Amino acid sequence: MKIKFLTVLTLIVLAMTTTNSTAQFVQAPLPYDFTALEPSIDAQTMELHFTKHHAGYVNNLNNALKAEGKESHTDLEAILKDITSYSVAVRNNGGGHYNHQLFWTLLTPKKNTQASAELADAINKHFGNMEEFKTQFNQAAATRFGSGWAWLIVTEEGKLAITSTPNQDNPLMPVAPMQGEPILGVDVWEHAYYLKYQNRRPDYLQAIWDVINWEEVSKLYAAAIK
Ligand code: MN
Repeated sequence: MKIKFLTVLTLIVLAMTTTNSTAQFVQAPLPYDFTALEPSIDAQTMELHFTKHHAGYVNNLNNALKAEGKESHTDLEAILKDITSYSVAVRNNGGGHYNHQLFWTLLTPKKNTQASAELADAINKHFGNMEEFKTQFNQAAATRFGSGWAWLIVTEEGKLAITSTPNQDNPLMPVAPMQGEPILGVDVWEHAYYLKYQNRRPDYLQAIWDVINWEEVSKLYAAAIK
């Protein structure tokens, strides 16, 4: 009797959540194992980062939109581009979800991925060469005070630029110091590196180049300059 009651209750709850699920953002599965990016990024960091930090942003984003009666807003890029119309909770958690969803695809266990000829040309033109680009990018990432992100973006004029943002802001937001389409982003929050690198953010920034997915960055570049 008790079991039957619970079954009915479960069905009612399921029906309610199904009809109310218009704006539920969900985390896409991580495209590789937690151990896949070792030794650049250790498994424990990856697991906590994905299952706790990123998952938390997704959950809090859904709750924040619901609290504001905006659960029908399901286009995350559109939300970020109009972020001043939303609460600080949507800014922090919407940025958090977008940034991490992108970050996971920009990393890969595949060794020695290469930038497309098109992107390599643009990097050489804007920064001199690939090594100089990495130096400038790491400089921006190392000097971002506190928590935030470093970015390679394509500006409205179709030019490459390096920038950084505080907290979970990103260059899609009109509040960012420089706007553009992000094609590479690196998380410099302590939760991204502290277990393995402690206070040595520059060591994390050196090691991460071994797992950057240049094929994905190249795809995003091609799409951004169209
Ligand atoms: Mn993070």
